[in-house]
Amino acid sequence: MTGNTLNLLGEFSRKDMEREFFADYMEKSVRFVRPAVLMLGVLHLLFLLPDYLHFRAMDEFLPIALARVLFLLLATLLHLSMKSWKDYRRLSCWITGMELLCVALFLYILSRYEGGDILIQAFGVMVIILAGVLVPNRWINNLVVFVTLSIGFVAGSLVHNPAVDRNEFHASVVYLLLVNVLCSVVTYRNHRHMRRQYLANKKLLYLSMVDHLSGAYNRAKLDVEMRRWQDGKENAGNPFSIIMFDLDHFKKVNDRHGHMAGDRVIVGVADMVRKNIRESDVFARWGGEEFVVLLPGTEINYAREVAQRLRQKAEDLRVPGVPSVTCSFGVAQRRTGESMESLVQRVDKHLYRAKEEGRNRVLGDFPAEQNG
Ligand code: GH3
Ligand code: MG
Ligand code: MG
Repeated sequence: MTGNTLNLLGEFSRKDMEREFFADYMEKSVRFVRPAVLMLGVLHLLFLLPDYLHFRAMDEFLPIALARVLFLLLATLLHLSMKSWKDYRRLSCWITGMELLCVALFLYILSRYEGGDILIQAFGVMVIILAGVLVPNRWINNLVVFVTLSIGFVAGSLVHNPAVDRNEFHASVVYLLLVNVLCSVVTYRNHRHMRRQYLANKKLLYLSMVDHLSGAYNRAKLDVEMRRWQDGKENAGNPFSIIMFDLDHFKKVNDRHGHMAGDRVIVGVADMVRKNIRESDVFARWGGEEFVVLLPGTEINYAREVAQRLRQKAEDLRVPGVPSVTCSFGVAQRRTGESMESLVQRVDKHLYRAKEEGRNRVLGDFPAEQNG
C-alpha cells in the first residue's frame, strides 16, 4: 500500500490519502464536536456573572455581554449546521475560525480587566490551550490558534497592564512557552500515530477480505456482499445475476507444469476477469480454482454475454510456460425473494452441467438455443 509517507505537518504526503483520512477522522469527531461547540458557547456566556460583579457600570458591561451573546449565537449556528456537513475541510476551517474568534473575545475581555493578576490569567490561558488540544483539527491549525492566543495574551498584558510585576510576567511567558511546546509535540506525535494506525487498519481490512494469490475478494467478503444485496431494501425489484466458473483440467496443469505455473495461471485469469467486468461487479474466489462474479442490476442475458466474453478471453490468455487453459461457466439470475443459498445451488448445477457437457462453455437458465 503506497501513500504512507508523512510530511512535516504530520499529514499524508498524498493529497487523496490525506483527504480520505481527514474525512474519516472528522466524521468520527463530529459527534463529539457538536455538543462541545454548544457547551463552549454556554460556558462563555456563564462568564457574564463574574463580568457583571467586576464591572457593574453598564457602559463597560454591555459590550462584553454583547460579545458573549454573539459568540453563543455563532456556536449554536455551527452546532446546528454541522450535522449536515460532508465537506470536512470546510468544517476544519470553521472550527479554526471559531477558535480564533474565541481567542479574540477572550483577549478583548481580558483587556477590560485592568490590573488583574497576570499569573492567574496566564493559568487561564494554559487551561484554554489544554482544552484546545482536545479539539479535532489539523495539527497546524491548532498550533496557529495556541500561538495566537499566547502572543496576544503576552502583548495585551504589556499594553494594558504596564505596572505588571516583572518576575511574574517572565514566569508567565516561560510557562506559556513550555505549555505551547509540550502541547504541540504531543499533538504532533498523536497526529502521526493516528495516520499510521489508519494505514494499519486499512491494510488489515484489505487482508481480511482479499485473497492473497488472485487479488479477488475472499469467501468472507463474498458472503458479506451477497447478504448486503439480499437484505438491501433498495435492491427490491432490481435484477441480480451471478456467474460461477471453474478452470478446466487444472489438476493436469499442476501435475505437468508444477504448482508455481498453476499459480501463475490463477493470477493471469483473475487479472483478465478484473479487466473485463464493471467496477460495481463483485469478483471473488469461491475456493481452489473456482471463482464467482456477482452482477448487481444485471439481467441474465447480459450476464451470459459477460460470461461468454470471459470464456473467450480465458481461452486466448497466454501464460508463459503453460499451454492455454479453458474455463466452464454457470450463470443464473436471482428469482424474486430467492435466497442466496438457492441461487448459488442453481448456478453450481449449471457449472456442473457445463463440465459434464464437455467444458469450455457457458450454461444457464437461458432458452435452450442460447446455451453454449
Ligand atoms: P475439472 O475440469 O473437472 O474442474 O478438473 P480439475 O482438474 O480442474 O478439477 P479438480 O477439482 O480435480 O482439481 C482442481 C485442482 O486445482 C486441484 C488443486 O491442486 C488445484 N488448485 C486449487 N487451488 C490452487 C492454487 O491456489 N494453486 C495451484 N497451483 N493449484 C490449485
Ligand atoms: Mg477445475
Ligand atoms: Mg474446482
